[in-house]
Amino acid sequence: MHEMGIANSILEAVQKEARRYPHARARKVGVRIGELAAIDAEALRFCFEALSRDTDLDGLQLEIELCPRRHRCERCNCAFIVRDYDCRCPQCGNFARECVSGDELELAYVEVEEDEPSSLATKSSQ
Ligand SMILES: [Zn+2]
Repeated sequence: MHEMGIANSILEAVQKEARRYPHARARKVGVRIGELAAIDAEALRFCFEALSRDTDLDGLQLEIELCPRRHRCERCNCAFIVRDYDCRCPQCGNFARECVSGDELELAYVEVEEDEPSSLATKSSQ
């Protein structure tokens, strides 16, 4: 199950990012997964939750954005989403072989939240 390794590298990247904000907690992480990357989103979510449990990233939310496969037509330069393995250009009907996206696996963003447990107490004393 290679989703375990992927989940692990996502968590490592988040930890690295979180170190830049010592007084904040990572709340959410967004990843972009291409259709061609052959990653099972549900399996990835499962591994992610299993690995983050009982660590300092427990409760971190994972948001998965699935990116469709896109090809570009060499003839008219139009980029389009490939559905049902039909690679013909919707504009001119040319068979477009050039795949321009759909195999990505990348960290889109990390959302952090300031951790200030004392701020509520000081507000009420005024
Ligand atoms: Zn075309």
